[in-house]
Amino acid sequence: MRVLVVEDDDAIGDGLEDGLTEQGFVVTRARNGAEALRSDPGDVVLLDLGLPDMDGRDVCRQIRARTSTPIIMLTARAEEFDRVLGLELGADDYVTKPFSFRELVARIRAVARRSQQRVEVDDESTIVRGSLIIDVRAHRVLLRGSEVKLTPKEFDLLRFLAAATDAVRTRSEILDEVWDVNWYGPTKTVDAHVATIRQKLGDSRWIEAVRGVGFRLVEFE
Ligand code: CA
Repeated sequence: MRVLVVEDDDAIGDGLEDGLTEQGFVVTRARNGAEALRSDPGDVVLLDLGLPDMDGRDVCRQIRARTSTPIIMLTARAEEFDRVLGLELGADDYVTKPFSFRELVARIRAVARRSQQRVEVDDESTIVRGSLIIDVRAHRVLLRGSEVKLTPKEFDLLRFLAAATDAVRTRSEILDEVWDVNWYGPTKTVDAHVATIRQKLGDSRWIEAVRGVGFRLVEFE
C-alpha cells in the first residue's frame, strides 16, 4: 500500500516515513501543498493541516477533486479542525497530534478498506458513457454500436476508468485494481495500455492523462 505523507515538520515526517516503511507501506513525502499536488497520492494520503505555502484544507479539496484516494488529515489541535467541514472537503478521517502511531496505522488500514469496498460497490453490469457502452458481464465494448475488440487487460482497465467517469484513477490504483495488488513493476505498462485503448477507440480524448497523477475517462461524445 502506498502512502503520501504531506508534512512540513521533518521530525514528524521522518518518524512517519520510518514507521510506515517498517510496517510495509511504500511512503512518498511532500513538504508543502504544491509538492503534495504534484505527487502521486498513492492509496492513502496523510495530510498536515498547517502547511507553509497553502492551507491544508485547500490541498485536501484539490486532491479530492482529482481522485478518490482516501485522505486522513493530521491536525495540531482538535479544536483547530472542524470535523464536519473536513468531511465536506473530502477528508475521510482526521488524527490529532500527538497521535499514537499504532492508532494511525489502524486508521490508514480502515480508510483504505472502505475505499476498496466503494470500488467494488461501483461495479455495474453495463456501463454507459456517452456513445461508449461497456457490457461487463459479456466482456464487450460497443462504440456507437460497433464492437471494439480489447484484450482482457485493456477491457479491465477501460472498465475501471469508466466506473469513475469524473475521478482520476492514479497509476497505483490502476496497477492494484487491473494488475495485481503486489505488482510494483514499471507504471509505463499502464501508459502503454492506455495508448492502445485510445487507438482502438479512435480518439485519444476518451482517456485524459492528468500529469503526475493518472488517467480519467472523459465522456466527450
Ligand atoms: Ca505543519
